[in-house]
Amino acid sequence: MKKYNIINCALLAGFFLENGECLASKGSTALIGEEDMQTPFPEWLAEFTNLTQWPGLDPPYVPLDYIDLTEVPEFDRYYPGECPNISREQCSFDCYNCVDVDDVTSCFKLSQTFDDGPAPATEALLEKLRHRTTFFVLGINTVNYPDIYEHILERGHLLGSHTWSHEFLPSLSNEEIVAQIEWSIWAMNATGNHFPKYFRPPYGAIDNRVRAIIKQFGLTVVLWDLDTFDWKLITNDQFRTEEQILEDIEVWKEQENGLILEHDGAHRTVDVAIKINELIGNDQLTIAECIGDVDYIERYN
Ligand SMILES: [Zn+2]
Repeated sequence: MKKYNIINCALLAGFFLENGECLASKGSTALIGEEDMQTPFPEWLAEFTNLTQWPGLDPPYVPLDYIDLTEVPEFDRYYPGECPNISREQCSFDCYNCVDVDDVTSCFKLSQTFDDGPAPATEALLEKLRHRTTFFVLGINTVNYPDIYEHILERGHLLGSHTWSHEFLPSLSNEEIVAQIEWSIWAMNATGNHFPKYFRPPYGAIDNRVRAIIKQFGLTVVLWDLDTFDWKLITNDQFRTEEQILEDIEVWKEQENGLILEHDGAHRTVDVAIKINELIGNDQLTIAECIGDVDYIERYN
């Protein structure tokens, strides 16, 4: 039997709840398994890290010569629901919707994106999609479900990183942030023989300290401008129903552009994703296409 953590507002109520509102409400559902890691731990990674197996939810920091932490600006760490004193320089997206000029936040064609997989629920979505889309995957899920990860690749979808284990990055030390990114990249290297080019922070939690580290990895930050709040279907939040989500989609269809945040980590959110897909249709783009970037996944053998 696998054990799972469901990361959501309900479980982190001590952090999140204020006046009954979920403060860290930017896309916060992850289904994470810590056992049964199936991707073999590669020899090159064993040599490099002196480890013999994939880490658990708290991956160790491994220094990299191309990551210079002295270049990272010093801003206060903060926790969910605990926003830093407003500073344009810190530029928190989760607190103040602040975005950097390099962040991708929208698309000129209304397009879906999916976070938190790969997961067993992902398969049903892959069956239905008739266009290419973007999946932001967790490293720990990638090594747990390498077959599903391969299915995503085989169908030509774009894969981005969503960290190793879905931590709230602004609350972590620089070293812990590096660990979340490097292990997610190694999971993708080892499972799919490729490097990611795009990164989406869990909970949309990012400030300029986190951004500085992400940029040193050569990753482009991808956020969103249209949130389905589909994860609330899992937490049985009475303030978000499937009907309301589909009503929003009808409104968004009118404007014809935008980047929609959804989740493929659970069957409930995949069910609604399929309905959303039927409403929007197949005229959608990957993140690379949205920004006119070269749309390929760099694979090596
Ligand atoms: Zn997520």
